[in-house]
Amino acid sequence: MCGIVGYVGRAQAAPIVLDGLEKLEYRGYDSAGMAIFDGERIHITKSVGRLKVLQELTHDGGTMPGCLGIGHTRWATHGAPSDENAHPHFNAKETIAVVHNGIIENYLPLKKKLEGRGYTFRSETDTEVLAHMLDYYYKGDPMDAIIKVLHRVEGSYALGILFADFPGELFAVRKDSPLIVGQNKEGCFIASDVPAILRYTREVTYIENQEIVRLTADGLHIYNVDEEEVEKTPVTIEWDAEAAEKAGYEHFMLKEMYEQPKTVTDTISPRMRGNEIIIEELGMDDGKLRQVKKLHIVACGSAYHAGVTGKYVLEGLARIPVEVDLASEFRYRNPILEEGAMVVVISQSGETADTLAALRESKKRGFPVLGIVNVVGSSIAREADNVMYTWAGPEIAVATTKAYSAQLVALYLLAMKLAQVRGTVTQEELAGMMDDLRRLPDQIELLLNNKNRIQRFANRYIAARDVFFIGRSIDYAISMEGSLKLKEISYIHSEAYAAGELKHGTISLIEEGTLVAAVSTQPELYQKTISNMVEVKSRGAFVLAVTCEGNREIEKAADYVIYIPHTNRFFTNSLAIIPLQLFSYYVAVGKGCDVDKPRNLAKSVTVE
Ligand code: GLU
Repeated sequence: MCGIVGYVGRAQAAPIVLDGLEKLEYRGYDSAGMAIFDGERIHITKSVGRLKVLQELTHDGGTMPGCLGIGHTRWATHGAPSDENAHPHFNAKETIAVVHNGIIENYLPLKKKLEGRGYTFRSETDTEVLAHMLDYYYKGDPMDAIIKVLHRVEGSYALGILFADFPGELFAVRKDSPLIVGQNKEGCFIASDVPAILRYTREVTYIENQEIVRLTADGLHIYNVDEEEVEKTPVTIEWDAEAAEKAGYEHFMLKEMYEQPKTVTDTISPRMRGNEIIIEELGMDDGKLRQVKKLHIVACGSAYHAGVTGKYVLEGLARIPVEVDLASEFRYRNPILEEGAMVVVISQSGETADTLAALRESKKRGFPVLGIVNVVGSSIAREADNVMYTWAGPEIAVATTKAYSAQLVALYLLAMKLAQVRGTVTQEELAGMMDDLRRLPDQIELLLNNKNRIQRFANRYIAARDVFFIGRSIDYAISMEGSLKLKEISYIHSEAYAAGELKHGTISLIEEGTLVAAVSTQPELYQKTISNMVEVKSRGAFVLAVTCEGNREIEKAADYVIYIPHTNRFFTNSLAIIPLQLFSYYVAVGKGCDVDKPRNLAKSVTVE
C-alpha cells in the first residue's frame, strides 16, 4: 500500500528518507511524514497532501538534522487523510516513534484496553495502538517490547520504529506487508520497496514474516520471534528504477493482477471470525439488517459488473430482491425506492461523479446508503451512511483488476451476512462457504501461474476484429467484465452477451474464425451453454471455454478450454475472471498497447 523508508548511518537521514519516499510516490498516498532523531530527541514533521509539502516544511530535510530517521507515505485505511492521522505516531512521552504499512485488525479491543490503562489517542488510526503498546511493554529492551506487541496484534504490518533510548539504532519488523533492508558503506536502510534504496545499494535482503531487524550505522542483524539470529543472503537487484517500481513486472496491471490473492485475503479476513461473518462497518445489528427489504446496487464500469454479479449472489443466497443500475442512468430515471430499500454504491476511487450523484439522490430521498469503496476519506466514503472498505490498496493501472476482485468478495460477504440474518442458509452451509472463501486466494494464485499458456493463446488474437463473451447467470456477469477488460486495453471490439440471447440478432456477426469466449461455471447450466457454443461453432466461431474442473463434456463443443478449480457456485467469478484478465492483458501487450494508460481513459472518472 503505502511507503516506508528508514535510515541509520553517518549521513544526514532526512534527505535520504525524503528521497526514498519520493521513489515510492508511484504507490499512491494521501499524506507523508518523517521522524528524525537529533541526538537528544525525536522530532516529527507530517502533513496531509503531497510529499512536496513535507519537503517544503522541512526545507528538503535541512531543518531536521540527525543521522537516524523513518519516513512514511500513508494510504489511509483507518481514519481520513489528515495531519493527525499521518504517520509517524508517537507514544505520549514522544520517546517511541512508529511508521506502519498495513492494517491492525484487532485495534479496537487493543485501543479500549490501552484507554483503560490511561493512554490517550491523538489520531483515529489503527497504527497509534502500536506506539502506545510499545510504550506499555518497553522496560529498557526494545526487542522484548516489539516481540510482546507482535504476539498481541492481528493483521498485516511493516513497521519502522525509533526508540529515543537507542540513538544509533533503527528497528523494523513485518507480517504480510512488504519490507526490505539494505546496507552500504555509509549506513543501513529499510524500505517497503526496492526503488526507495536502489540509489544507495543494489544488494537487498527481503524480510520474512515476523522477522525483526536491528540496524545500526555499521550493519544489520535479523532475528526471529525467539530472538535467535537468522542468516540471510542478500539478492542483487538487476532491474533499473523504473522496473523496480513494478517489482520486476512489465506493467502495473500485471503486478496488480498478481496482488489479487493478497487483496482478497485482506478484504475477507477482518470480516470472518471463527464461523461468523462480522461486518461492523454496516452499522446495523441483525434486527436492522432483517428490515432491509430490497437492495439497489448503483455503480459504473467494472464496479457495475461486480454489482451485476452481486445481484446473482445476493438474490441466490439471501433471497433478497436486488436491482442493479448504471449510476448515470439511475440518477435521471426517477427510480422507485420503497420502504425498506437500501442503496449500495460501489466505486474504487470513491470519487466517481455519477455514483456520487446517485448517492446524493438516494440520501435526499431519505434512503440509507452503503458505500463499497477502496479509498478512505474519498467523497463517497464521507457521504455514505456506512462504508465497507475494499482493502485493495492503491491501484495504478487504469484497467481495474485487484479492486474489482476486492469488490466481488465484499459483495459475497454482504450476501453471506444477509443470508445468515435472514435464515436462508444453514450454519453448516455458511461454514462451508467461509472455507471456500478462504481458499480463493490460493486458487487465484494457481490460475495466475498459468499465465504462459494464456499468453500463447492470446498471441493468436492480436489481430482480431471482434470478440464475443457469452455466459448465463453469473457467467453473464463475468462475460461483461471480461469483455470490458479486452476492449479497454487492447482496443479490440468486444461484446458480452447472455448466452441465450445471442441468437436473437447478434449471431449474425459471427464469421469464420471469430473468437467466442464462453464462460460456464454453473453446473445446472452446463448443457444450456454447450448448446449456445455449438450454435456459434457451427457458424465458424473459434470457441474458448472457461469452465470448472471436471466438466470434460465441454471439450466436445470448445476449441480451447481453461479449467478453474472447484469453489462454491456463487464465487466462481473470482476465479473465472483471472484467465480473462490475463487474456486481455496479453492481447494488449502483443499489440504493443499502452496497457497501464489506455487511450481516452482516466483512472477516476470525476465528470458526469
Ligand atoms: N492503517 C494505517 C493507517 O490508516 C496505515 C495505512 C498505510 O498502510 O498507509 O494509518
